[in-house]
Amino acid sequence: MRWTRTLLNTLRENPQDAEINSHKLLIRAGLARKLSGGLYTFMPLGLRSLQKIITIVREEMNRAEAQEILMPALQPAELWERSGRLQTMGPGMFKLKDRTGRLMTLGPTHEEVVTELLAAEINSYRQLPCTVYQIQTKFRDEIRPRFGLMRAKEFIMKDAYSFDTTMEQADTSYRAMYDAYVRIFKRCGLDACPVEADTGDIGGQWSHEFMVLADSGEDGVIDCPACGYAANQEKAERFIAKKTPAPCPANEEIATPAIKTIDQLAAFLKCQPAEFIKTMIYLADEQPVAVLIPGDRELNEHKLKQMLGAKTLTMADDTVIQCVTGATVGFAGPVNLTTRIYADTALENATNLIAGANKTDLHIRNVDLKRDAQITAYEDLVIVREGDCCPRCQKKLEMKRGIEVGHVFKLGTKYSQSFDAKYLNEHGESLEMVMGCYGIGVTRTLQAVIEQSNDKDGIIWPITVAPFAVTILNLDPSNEHVNNVVAQLEQELANKHLDVFIDDRTERPGVKFKDADLIGCPVRVVVGARGLTSNTIEVKQRGSHEAIATTVEGAAECIIGLASKLFEQHQPSTQVTKPSQKHY
Ligand SMILES: [Zn+2]
Repeated sequence: MRWTRTLLNTLRENPQDAEINSHKLLIRAGLARKLSGGLYTFMPLGLRSLQKIITIVREEMNRAEAQEILMPALQPAELWERSGRLQTMGPGMFKLKDRTGRLMTLGPTHEEVVTELLAAEINSYRQLPCTVYQIQTKFRDEIRPRFGLMRAKEFIMKDAYSFDTTMEQADTSYRAMYDAYVRIFKRCGLDACPVEADTGDIGGQWSHEFMVLADSGEDGVIDCPACGYAANQEKAERFIAKKTPAPCPANEEIATPAIKTIDQLAAFLKCQPAEFIKTMIYLADEQPVAVLIPGDRELNEHKLKQMLGAKTLTMADDTVIQCVTGATVGFAGPVNLTTRIYADTALENATNLIAGANKTDLHIRNVDLKRDAQITAYEDLVIVREGDCCPRCQKKLEMKRGIEVGHVFKLGTKYSQSFDAKYLNEHGESLEMVMGCYGIGVTRTLQAVIEQSNDKDGIIWPITVAPFAVTILNLDPSNEHVNNVVAQLEQELANKHLDVFIDDRTERPGVKFKDADLIGCPVRVVVGARGLTSNTIEVKQRGSHEAIATTVEGAAECIIGLASKLFEQHQPSTQVTKPSQKHY
């Protein structure tokens, strides 16, 4: 392919709305163009990379014996009513009406459609296990689309669904997808690590996310360097040493006029935030609950919702808080509170704490939860942070940032129940199929590759997903001899299935070098009249500092050798590490 025949414009300036490197480079290298917030067109070079990623995904899914299908993106909303997700997914779903007034959705995912489909197609245990997948456009009405392809309204996903007879068989299907994901990301040149994750709106028994570590990542990843425990911060647990209760004097009310936040209170009483109990009132499925956590910690709402098994969880408004506590907002506390109270594990046996008095402008000193309050249960309820203790080995945990590129879920029978997806076993009994679902954000993966692999000059593509393996800079496109050498070389490389992009523009060499670095094809070849006078062609690997000088005759072999070496780096190993999940 030649630049002069390609719809490709590189930009010197960063796009104004781009906050992270990969977004800037995606646009500057001419890979994609924005239509409007969260909507992007893939340009010829960007589409080539995307198609290479799709090919890798498809090959690995087929290797794992998943069968490719293609389901409609437009779905009747009644399917979502049946699973109860029309409500839980809420405004994140695009909804529209057809001309008869029937409510439709643009699918953000396909559990409903696929379960309905397989419920009709599968009758016997002989047809199981069965895993199907598709590579398709998905829609999500993001509140704030940002970071380019990372958080878009329309994106391409690979989604797979497994159907099995038993929980054990479902584990085998889960494992097959997990291993396929490890291979996919390795082949894409991505360093993606599997971490334990929250099951969120999808639901189910357990799940792993595949995280690409990057400072710009939106997800917190908690990691134990000692034992390998890794989890999304939303899901991460911590070890708490059990306290021996210390003697605690009688409660004492203290006047704290108009002091409402822990920070104000700490300053006013000259105490550390950890000496306070933070009391929050929530509505879980419309019922009030009180939640207690140490004053220096943040509540993890995902954990709370999971623990309560609640469909909806919202912070109570001022009216509810006044009704529950009898005080204005800011003075809630556990003493004499009659609603259900859940406290963080760190508060078990804790004494001599300060809490709201459930009376306006008053707090209580010397709180001993065991003595002074009726705690329904102690649970791990806070967001785990760096320095907390590992739940497995009790060593110190570290905190990193990550981009989620894949997510695997063991769903169990949640959707089979809603859609009556049953099979007959060998004894003629009708049983629910056990499901798993597995997603890869394909367009997001493309940008994650860029985010993980770049330098100040531009992208450094892994050869497996680069728009082109090789770029040849023709420094003298008006020189016939140079053109002949370039054409000959292109042919020799094409014979070895290496794709080649030729910069044949009438531009200064400096401009071509800059653009080659920006676009970042892994092998750069320079052919110019001056070099040819000494029978020399220059070959350089993107990201390396040294160029190799080769003869015209030896150039093809030199390039093929370098390219093969680069391809080998992204071959997945046959050994796959065990998932960090206690269910294994
Ligand atoms: Zn550990």
